[in-house]
Amino acid sequence: MAFIVMKFGGSSVGDAVRMKRVANRVLERQREGNRCVVVVSAMGDTTDDLIDLSKQLVDGTPPAREMDMLLSTGEQVSIALLAMTIRGIGGQAVSYTGWQAGMYTEAVHGKARITDIQPKRVHDALDQGNIVIVAGFQGMTEDGEITTLGRGGSDTTAVALAAALKADLCEIYTDVDGIYSTDPRVVKVARKLKEISYDEMLELANLGAAVLHPRAVEYAKHYQVPLVVRSSFTHNEGTTVKEEAVMEQGMVVSGIAYDKNVGRISILGVPEKPGQLAKVFTALAKEQINVDIIVQGGVMNGAADTSFTVALGDVEKAQQVLDSIKEEVGFRELASESNLVKVSIVGAGMVSNSGVAARMFEAISALGISINMVSTSEIKVSCVIDKSRLNEVVQALHTAYGLDTSEQAFVGGPSERR
Ligand code: ASP
Ligand code: MG
Repeated sequence: MAFIVMKFGGSSVGDAVRMKRVANRVLERQREGNRCVVVVSAMGDTTDDLIDLSKQLVDGTPPAREMDMLLSTGEQVSIALLAMTIRGIGGQAVSYTGWQAGMYTEAVHGKARITDIQPKRVHDALDQGNIVIVAGFQGMTEDGEITTLGRGGSDTTAVALAAALKADLCEIYTDVDGIYSTDPRVVKVARKLKEISYDEMLELANLGAAVLHPRAVEYAKHYQVPLVVRSSFTHNEGTTVKEEAVMEQGMVVSGIAYDKNVGRISILGVPEKPGQLAKVFTALAKEQINVDIIVQGGVMNGAADTSFTVALGDVEKAQQVLDSIKEEVGFRELASESNLVKVSIVGAGMVSNSGVAARMFEAISALGISINMVSTSEIKVSCVIDKSRLNEVVQALHTAYGLDTSEQAFVGGPSERR
């Protein structure tokens, strides 16, 4: 017998048929002898639809408090329907909102962090033989205000609840049957990983592998909650995410990720004197613009060029910020590009193996593609390249690191997240 927190995303409970399938799945898991807590997201595109509705009624930004009041209803529909479905097929179940389950958050609307969990009611209901269903993505402040955790936040609810309840396992049921070595839509022979470490998963999640929310992975690592990512549509074995994953034979790279949300800004002719770069990046930070890769060129005639990447949505704002300090910094020219993509290889085995990055550069140059920018960490190498060559590069890297399998990857139903 195990104590399991099971999380189902929006597409897994997207309609009545799917809801019923989830109810059966949960009941089956309980009848195997497990203690089961279930966290669900809002059905299908409910959250997006509610946001659209608010936009139709309000010019500009709606009040954050009322947005949370609105968006938290999506998950409440799911928990009530799931609980009654389970009871309808002979199970015993009870649903709780985030606040009923004791999920406390900081007093920030729209992206609150969980500060405390007091799950007494959940324990009690479990002791009485219930399957306990908890609304994802929501909590309450100490003052009794409803908050939400940010888009995709149900994963975090599930992991945090698993940690607080000291569950053995947190199962994330989704529309793909695990974590793949790369996007199976790009590489047909992508392999499903049996295991992956928290650190690797965190890199992949931050790089846009949308299967798990990065904050949920951080939580899981912090509290050492083992995660299993698996399909809600099949019984295939999923991928386990834990501290130390066993490296599959000879595989120094576990996954290849890409991020299309990359804009590059270049500042040309920055006079070479101390403090110039600090001025630039402080000004950007003040405007909450996150900078990713930074490349500083050599000095020529007392001036240097600097390029960096930001999210596409931040390009315009970044340019405005830089324009406003042009005089002060004294640079010559500003340029931006948005036809780029970042491709990354991720693998815990990289630290102890040489030549891993070299193989990446070789594979890319063999295609006659030039690399615009590079950045590395202990377990990652990223290259910024032209967007039009993305698929070729991902495929070539997948082959170069021995990740291709003979089997065709399973790709599930409609996508959980955009
Ligand atoms: N329903 C929320 C969203 O769509 C939370 C979640 O799905 O995890 O962002
Ligand atoms: Mg959702």
